[in-house]
Amino acid sequence: MAVAQNIRCSHCSGPVEFKPGELIATCRYCGFTTVVETGVPFNFDHSLLLNKFDLAQADELIEGWMNSGFIKPSDLAKKYKVLEKTLVYLPFWVVSVEAKTSYKGIFERISPPIAKDGKIQKEYNWLVLAREASGFPTREYAIPLEGKIPYDFRKIERFAKVLNSEIDREEALGLAKQQIEAHHRYLLKQDVDKIVEIYTDIKVKQALYLHAPVWFVKYEYKGKTFQLILDGAIGMPLKGDIPPSKF
Ligand SMILES: [Zn+2]
Repeated sequence: MAVAQNIRCSHCSGPVEFKPGELIATCRYCGFTTVVETGVPFNFDHSLLLNKFDLAQADELIEGWMNSGFIKPSDLAKKYKVLEKTLVYLPFWVVSVEAKTSYKGIFERISPPIAKDGKIQKEYNWLVLAREASGFPTREYAIPLEGKIPYDFRKIERFAKVLNSEIDREEALGLAKQQIEAHHRYLLKQDVDKIVEIYTDIKVKQALYLHAPVWFVKYEYKGKTFQLILDGAIGMPLKGDIPPSKF
């Protein structure tokens, strides 16, 4: 385990704990957010999505997932055992952009091949997870932004963990741009088989820093351990390991 260090919160002067690699830290006594390296207050919007499920309700969510769908073993709902469930407030950057890609390429599916050009123009609230390593399914998470409120540490459950950001704003913008361009390359494969020229222009309208509640569940079934990840704002399953049926 990496050793945690302390800086003083510039708002309440309480100790703000951070771990190596964390760039933006939030005080757990007053909710004030600080840029670790400089010690200056974080100047951007910091929002929070509220968790709607207490520990017992989280059990119901888990049970609901075990009972749903057709590809799960028929005795899963009867035999699973929750080993661990943790509510974690994960830090995200939500980058609002207008993205325009112009491209030229060759459509090769017909003979003779033809040259084509086109444009993709879209608006996104692009989600960037502010932690370096994690098996979190960020692209699959339709984050329910309607529910966001200004960050309020008093609304955070005592038993929950709050993770700090390992990615600063600039890095988040860079990642969003890269990922959007890659996404557009993927989209335009419907239209051309070979790209000859591509240019993507991205206008950033806003970058929001946000903590969202996520339940990480470890469960056991027939002696093996599996993971389930559930969103805590609306109770949506985000990723779940399903044991093989003949197991
Ligand atoms: Zn403080």
